[in-house]
Amino acid sequence: MKICVLPGDGIGPEITAQALRVLAALRSDGLPIEIEQALIGGSAVDAEGVPLPASTLGLAGEADAVLLGAVGGPKWDGLPRDRRPERGLLGIRKSLELFANLRPAILYPELANASTLKPEVVAGLDIMIVRELTGDIYFGQPRGIEQRDGETVGFNTMIYSEAEIRRIARVAFDIAMKRSRRLCSVDKMNVLECTQLWRDVVTEEAKSYPDVELSHMLVDNAAMQLVRNPKQFDVMVTGNMFGDILSDEASMLTGSIGMLPSASLDAANKGMYEPSHGSAPDIAGKGLANPLATILSVAMMLRYTFGQEEAAARVEDAVKRVLAEGLRTADIHEKGKRQVGTAAMGDAVLAAL
Ligand code: NAD
Repeated sequence: MKICVLPGDGIGPEITAQALRVLAALRSDGLPIEIEQALIGGSAVDAEGVPLPASTLGLAGEADAVLLGAVGGPKWDGLPRDRRPERGLLGIRKSLELFANLRPAILYPELANASTLKPEVVAGLDIMIVRELTGDIYFGQPRGIEQRDGETVGFNTMIYSEAEIRRIARVAFDIAMKRSRRLCSVDKMNVLECTQLWRDVVTEEAKSYPDVELSHMLVDNAAMQLVRNPKQFDVMVTGNMFGDILSDEASMLTGSIGMLPSASLDAANKGMYEPSHGSAPDIAGKGLANPLATILSVAMMLRYTFGQEEAAARVEDAVKRVLAEGLRTADIHEKGKRQVGTAAMGDAVLAAL
């Protein structure tokens, strides 16, 4: 089990340190885990001048799975676009062909009060958003800012091929088969031709999954329904840009982005696993960050890349136990609970493990 760990920037190194402790514990219990570490994002810009050095891409390419902390921060915001930390992230996703982004939004019963929505609206929430990650308007050409008829214009291209839609639809249908067999595909077919094709291909693919109940929803309605009645959803599948926005919205239903893992998979289930949140520069270096999203990303890695369901469940159970014991980092803290920092939360997970 070759794992490439990319701590990144901001709170990245603090939270991956705790995930590394979990991996070390699993190794001493017999899992054949090998770890390599490399630079990405702003820390790579500082050391090597680029956000994704060739050596990092090489190590990530050789590994079975990648564990990423987070990248970015104000220090690098003024850099030219191709040297910004986020470019490293887009680059690694594209190079490794990680086209399927799985973002669960789960509300642990212990944290029902952490949500800004009423507990009865969100209690027991368990949604899986499947976002296409390597296509769409984020990568479409042509793109740019240029002069046209004496005026500056900015432009991007929204584009999906049938094959790109089909492979992400299959991932979503397969996940729906393992859950409650309900899939909602999100598009904007009333305005965008690109997403008319999306709807047509997903509908066609549904014929291979007669046991899955497929529905379609326009993205504006989906954004509204996610806050009105989120429990109507089980698995959702959508394109890169809509998925970017909806998965952040869904994550906030749960109260803390510090709790949510994510996976990005290629066609052979090789994956990059990372917390859904960013590098949180406002709390970086203070020992306050919640490491649970990163630790839960390790659980997803064990499940989706390594097929180690038992070990995955063990890590998830350890996290649940720590929450049940009343430990909370600042982002999920509420009255009557014990507030702890990043390392103490890691200690507690290891003890529970
Ligand atoms: P963010 O997710 O970093 O932070 C948003 C808020 O959530 C902040 O108040 C932060 O303190 C809090 N937060 C985030 N993770 C937390 C954790 N584990 N524990 C406790 N609190 C946590 O989003 P942002 O502020 O919009 O972005 C900051 C930087 O991160 C930017 O440079 C952005 O480009 C980058 N970013 C990186 C990724 C990634 O690496 N995948 C994703 C999103 C943003």
